[in-house]
Amino acid sequence: MQRNKQRTAKRGRRGFTLIEMLVVVLVIAILMAVAMPLYLGAVTDAGRKACRANMQTIASAEQAFRLRSSNFSYTTDLNQLNASMGSTATPVCPYNGSYSVEISDGSATSDNGQTVPAGSLIIRCSHPAHGSFAPGVDSE
Ligand SMILES: [Zn+2]
Repeated sequence: MQRNKQRTAKRGRRGFTLIEMLVVVLVIAILMAVAMPLYLGAVTDAGRKACRANMQTIASAEQAFRLRSSNFSYTTDLNQLNASMGSTATPVCPYNGSYSVEISDGSATSDNGQTVPAGSLIIRCSHPAHGSFAPGVDSE
């Protein structure tokens, strides 16, 4: 009688078995394996888009600079754009790329393979995945 009572008490004890814990860990691992690539892809994509927005800001500042300059020309010196950037300083790439501005000589091509007309802007990021932006040639 005493023995039976002990067995019932043991069986009634709450807790997880090793197998149940392993199943939970396995399910979490499967969810992580599915979610992590999607998350990292979204983070990378957001960085690329922020970089592109920076390049568009530089393009706008170049337009403002051109309108104010005496000889109606763009500049390749980003420091000269500070007055045209509004309240913000020169944008910084979220992945630590650095920007450079090139004025096409008519032979340069944009990221989509189109030729950039002579005298038009090409704004480049040094980060290899961010490429360049040619206002009016690349899609905004
Ligand atoms: Zn960049």
